[in-house]
Amino acid sequence: METIYFDNNATTPIDDQVFDILVSTLQLGLKNPASQHALGRQSRKQLEIARRQVEGLLGGNQQGSDEDAIVFTSGGTEANNFALQGICASFPQRGRLIISGIEHPSVTIAAEVLEKDGWDLKVVNTLSSGKIDLDHLDSLFNDDTRLVSVMLANNETGVIQPITDVVAQCKNHGALIHTDAVQAVGKMSVNFQQLGVDALSLSAHKIHGPVGVGALLIKNGCPITPVLHGGFQQNGLRPGTEACPLPIAFSKAIELYLHHQDANISRLLDLRLRLENGVLGLFPAAVVVGQESPRLPQTICISFPRVDRQALMMALDVAGVCCSTGSACASGSSETSPVLIAMGLPEEVIEGAIRFSLSIFNTPAEVDSVVEILSEILPLLSE
Ligand code: PLP
Repeated sequence: METIYFDNNATTPIDDQVFDILVSTLQLGLKNPASQHALGRQSRKQLEIARRQVEGLLGGNQQGSDEDAIVFTSGGTEANNFALQGICASFPQRGRLIISGIEHPSVTIAAEVLEKDGWDLKVVNTLSSGKIDLDHLDSLFNDDTRLVSVMLANNETGVIQPITDVVAQCKNHGALIHTDAVQAVGKMSVNFQQLGVDALSLSAHKIHGPVGVGALLIKNGCPITPVLHGGFQQNGLRPGTEACPLPIAFSKAIELYLHHQDANISRLLDLRLRLENGVLGLFPAAVVVGQESPRLPQTICISFPRVDRQALMMALDVAGVCCSTGSACASGSSETSPVLIAMGLPEEVIEGAIRFSLSIFNTPAEVDSVVEILSEILPLLSE
């Protein structure tokens, strides 16, 4: 049985060219880039080329004394933790921290840890469209608001957030703004300078790069304190021996993906619309979550009211289709999605929602197969 992989927001398959770069860079046996000998200097050179490439492709400022910084991390989770903890730790006094109610757990839980440490945490309401409530956000600022964290686009619904308005509000109120762009990069235009945010999180394995590497882009002048200690690497911001092959492969993944960004977006959108139209044609009662909002081209969260999402996902799995029911919890089953709850959707919509997430390596034939498989299993699962 052929497996159809529609869970690309969880992780994407590595691109062959990126894989080759990763392997050849490993074989090259790059040495510790902090070493002073010729081999160390050679590794440093390659690492810094990768750093500038990732930063440049995402619109970081590379000019003289205004240069933005990019710190490589182990992925999006670490980048988000570093942004929240590192920026908050740079203030001599605790203050207010605002996040949205639909953030990835690596933002939500990091914020809750800061709350336990005395930060005044506020969570912005979400509209049923999947976008954050800008009026509510505006009402949450006070004189002590230090940092706001709102993602660029949501991993479960794909809904793109009104980040330009969020940035404008933050500037008005003198607060810093971090955005999690992990799912957005390559699926929409992402330019750090144009966005005007102070920090932006990235992850390689969502765009056909290797797992285990990500980055935080940090605007020149944005205060941030290291959360790890014991080394001088990456200007002391993220100490530890740098794993050269991973950032180098990451930079190749971004280069390849962004080089074909428009074609990739249009391919993903065609696939998503084919899937949405196919499913809605068969099951008119199905609900596409966030349908009225601008959404990422690769993500479709669709609900089949009165169908148990866990049973549906398992039946799809047996039929060879990989998808997701929201965030997995430790037991391996799925908790009710905090994102869909935050949107205030009816319980039957929340309970019947699954996520398909596509990649440029998926095909129209795979979409048609999934629609057909659904046509066979859904009648068996409907109450
Ligand atoms: N942020 C978002 C929006 C995500 O979807 C994910 C992963 O699914 C992460 C952060 C975490 O990234 P990583 O898996 O690289 O730690």
